[in-house]
Amino acid sequence: MAEPIIAVDHVSFAYEDGGKMAVQDVSLSIERGSFHAILGQNGSGKSTLAKLINGLYLPSEGRVTVCGMDTQDDANTWEIRRRAGMVFQNPDNQLVATVVREDVAFGLENIGVPTAEMPERIEKALKDVGMLAYADRAPHLLSGGQKQRVAIAGVLAMAPEAIIFDESTAMLDPQGRREVLQAVKRLNRDQGITVLWITHFMEEAVACDKAHVMYKGKIVLSGTPRDIFSDMERIRPYRLDAPPMARLAEQLRSQGMPLKEGILTVDEMAEEVARLCK
Ligand code: ADP
Ligand code: MG
Repeated sequence: MAEPIIAVDHVSFAYEDGGKMAVQDVSLSIERGSFHAILGQNGSGKSTLAKLINGLYLPSEGRVTVCGMDTQDDANTWEIRRRAGMVFQNPDNQLVATVVREDVAFGLENIGVPTAEMPERIEKALKDVGMLAYADRAPHLLSGGQKQRVAIAGVLAMAPEAIIFDESTAMLDPQGRREVLQAVKRLNRDQGITVLWITHFMEEAVACDKAHVMYKGKIVLSGTPRDIFSDMERIRPYRLDAPPMARLAEQLRSQGMPLKEGILTVDEMAEEVARLCK
């Protein structure tokens, strides 16, 4: 089998020596080109895990490799951050310049891309997230979803192989959340960029290849979204909300409607209701 792009091998991490483990014996293997989601309630260790993958923190135990490079080795740090970019929760903290195109240029300057190459890379990145028309605008005048797409363009311009999104839609309105998730799905599908999507919105996990549930620093469940959400009793202890359509299906079943198992999306619900009403 091909080497995974991100490999987390029995990793533990504590913020203080001898303190509580924020991440505990986590193993994770992410194949190139895949779309994985990490789910979990607040404080379950998702952000800590993301920062361990990105080399912002080093494991207290275990090993993290990105594209075969060990995060423990200082010589790899910048290359790891370029190849596995990260997009955070609050777009306002990520945008630094007064013009969108300069913001996207910022990372390129840091990694020493020749000035002559920049305009093309910036424009391609903005185009890929549907923001090229805004290249000369001021970031602070954009909507939340637009700002977050500019932040993604800043990462994209560095030609990453993977992008880690740490609750990147949490501060957006529903429209902004949809915009960002659609842009990310396109990058995964059309450019084969590996995505690690951290979220507490369960409906966002419905379309991923594989989801992992974190609880108290551990990965307690891994599987396809259908595996994970097919049995609500099993996920209840981890305090996840089920996706809205799965909840609706459960309520309708409890009122006697014989809906099939495994409904996660509006389309599946519509199809099933139509079938029952025929
Ligand atoms: P999540 O992203 O799932 O909300 P975090 O990774 O932020 O979870 O936090 C995991 C645990 O580590 C929590 O108990 C949290 O309080 C603790 N923690 C997070 N950041 C720090 C920090 N900078 N210093 C000390 N403890 C922290
Ligand atoms: Mg977090």
